Parts: sequence; C-alpha cells; structure tokens
Amino acid sequence: MMNADILIIGAGISGATLAERYASIGKKVLVLEKRGHIAGNCYDEYDENGILVSKYGAHLFHTNDDGVWEYVQRFAEWYPWEHEVIARVDDKTVPIPVNINTVNILFGENITTEEEMKAWLDKNRIPFDVPKNGEEAVLNRVGPVLYEKMFKHYTKKQWDKYPEELNASVLERIPVRFNHDGRYFSDTHQALPKGGYTKIFENMLNHPNITVMLNTDYFDVKDQCEGFEKLFYTGPIDRFFEFKDEMMEKLEYRSINFVTEHLDQEYFQENSVVNYPGQEVDYTRIIEYKHFGNQKSAKTSIVKEYTVDTGEPYYPVPNERNQQIYEKYKEKADQLQNVYFVGRLANYKYFNMDQAFRNALDLFNSIEASNLKPHEK
Ligand code: UDP
Repeated sequence: MMNADILIIGAGISGATLAERYASIGKKVLVLEKRGHIAGNCYDEYDENGILVSKYGAHLFHTNDDGVWEYVQRFAEWYPWEHEVIARVDDKTVPIPVNINTVNILFGENITTEEEMKAWLDKNRIPFDVPKNGEEAVLNRVGPVLYEKMFKHYTKKQWDKYPEELNASVLERIPVRFNHDGRYFSDTHQALPKGGYTKIFENMLNHPNITVMLNTDYFDVKDQCEGFEKLFYTGPIDRFFEFKDEMMEKLEYRSINFVTEHLDQEYFQENSVVNYPGQEVDYTRIIEYKHFGNQKSAKTSIVKEYTVDTGEPYYPVPNERNQQIYEKYKEKADQLQNVYFVGRLANYKYFNMDQAFRNALDLFNSIEASNLKPHEK
C-alpha cells in the first residue's frame, strides 16, 4: 500500500510545483511518474557530444509574471536568453515573428520605419474585427501572401489541420512586429537555467517529505492508492476517465517525432531554431541545441521535429470540437471530491511554462489559503 497525505500523478511542472508547495507546509507527498525520469517534457540531459539537449523539444522560458519569476529562481540560477527564430522561405532566410526585415527580404522592399511597415501591412492585410479562427487571425495581421508562405503549411504540418480549423489563439501566439525586433518573445523576463531544466526539478523534489516513484503508471497501481487527503492528476484528462465511461469521445493530442542527428562538424545552422514553413520538407523545424547558452564543442547535434498523431501527448489541439469534448470531461472532473486536474494535459490548455507554474501555484494557494501564514501567501 502506498502512503502519503498528497498523491501527485506526474513529475512535470504542475506536479513538481504542487509537490514542492505541499512538502513546504509539512505534508508527506508521493509523486508517481510513468516515465523513467522527472521534469516531464522539460527533461534535458547532456548527449554524446557533451551538448545539453532537451529530450522533448526546445523549452524557452519567458514571463511577465513576477511571482513565477521569483518562484523559479529559487531552484536554479538563470542567465538571460532572448530567443530568436529564423525561417527558410523561398530559399531565403527571414526572421519570425514577421518584422521589417522579413518583408524586405521576401518582397524586395526597402522599409525602414514603423510607419512604412504599418502602411505595408495595411495594404496587404484583410481586416477582421474578431478573427474566428487561425486563418482569419493571420490574414488580419499580415495578409494572404505571408499567410501562404509562413503559416498555412507550417500549421498543417504541426497540427494536421489548416489554420481555419484551429482557434485564433493558436496563431495569435506569434505577434507581428513593426520594427526590426527579431526576438521571438517580448516578455520582461527571458532566461534559461544554468545546467538545464532537469536540475530545477531535482531541486524542487529534493525534500524529505517527497517520495518520487519513477516508471510507475498510476493506472497500474491505483488500486493500491488509498487514504490520500488529495490527489493531483496532471496527465491527459480523458485517460483518467476512459476506464469508467467508454461512451466518452477521446480528445485529440499532437505528439512529436524527434529525429536526432549527431554531426561531425562544428555547426549545422546559424541559429538555435530554424523553421521550415513550406511544403518542401515534412518536418516543421530543426533545432541545433549547442546555440542555447553558446555551448562549445567540436561536434554538433541537431533534431528535426515531425509532428504526429500518436505517441506521448504534447499539445492539446485547441478548437471548438475539442473544447466541447473537454467540457464534458471537466463536468465529471468537477464532481470528484479532493481530486484536482492541473496542467497542460489535464486542463487541455496550450499553457506556456510560466502559465503552468502559475496555475499550479494558484491552485495550491486557493486550496490552502486558510492554512497559510500571511507571509506564505
Ligand atoms: N506557426 C506558423 N509558422 C511558424 C511558426 C509557428 O504557422 O513559422 C504557427 C503554428 O500553427 C504554431 C503556432 O503558430 O503551432 C504557434 O507557434 P509556437 O512557436 O508558439 O509553437 P510551439 O513553440 O509551442 O510549438
């Protein structure tokens, strides 16, 4: 029989945050993790070329949330890192998000000022007051030519859906810039943890009140899990219920097939992330990890990302239909006593890392508000 006050399913951001918080108020916490490692999809390790690589795709931390920024700094030393992405389009290399350089390079323009950029966009964009889907969101911002070149096929590769089949919010993650700013994000805090993300999770979970069981799928052992005050579940919400109600529809998730190549050359490409928004290749992007933190080594490792239907779920697929299915699961989830669904997969939301921390912290604070001393709130 497994014993603790708090049972947490999953050792990613949400699970580790709740474990750390509950341990800090004296609760005994048991974390069950299906995989053979902690850190969820943030997991990173040094590879055979001595390069720190993320096993499940690049993770770039950025936030405007001072509370989350303060929290994550407790578990790692961070160094400033402003992420940039470039895209190969029509044999040219351009910045993404779209900025003045993107337009100049692709269309041979000679824009120099914000006013000229806005005028160019006004001439090209198709305005929508409230974009109803991803296609309208992009047309509204940059118009049909850039839509076709940079967004339509990338999105099809990424989601197996065209932008019109997705919520506007998915495509609105990427802004358009009226200047030369080549940064992918514009948040106040943009940084990477020294030595990688996994260390953060080690530090969060390294507490005498916390036990982590790896390679343990909750659904294999749940009959042995009894007597917990609270259960926090961070896996896919439909998986939690599919054993009870076969009539419920499955939610869609996208997974990624990461294809790694170790190359006997110093560099493969000029930037950490190069997107391929066209139809000429099946992958969405190539990541060359040594660029993160300017790591030095004689060799390099690159990863091509192919998004696929099956495998570990990484992305919820935000559209109307999935939202409706999710709401049905949520109704069932809300009826359960002392069982909480938290995180990207359990809330079926396309959270960024900082939002995942924020949600877990807010959940803890709202449940435990009455037990906390004022300085802990
Ligand atoms: N996207 C695109 N072209 C690009 C980059 C992104 O069409 O070159 C679209 C695509 O639909 C993607 C969404 O914008 O899913 C959000 O991109 P983001 O980089 O935020 O995705 P993530 O890094 O979470 O995979």
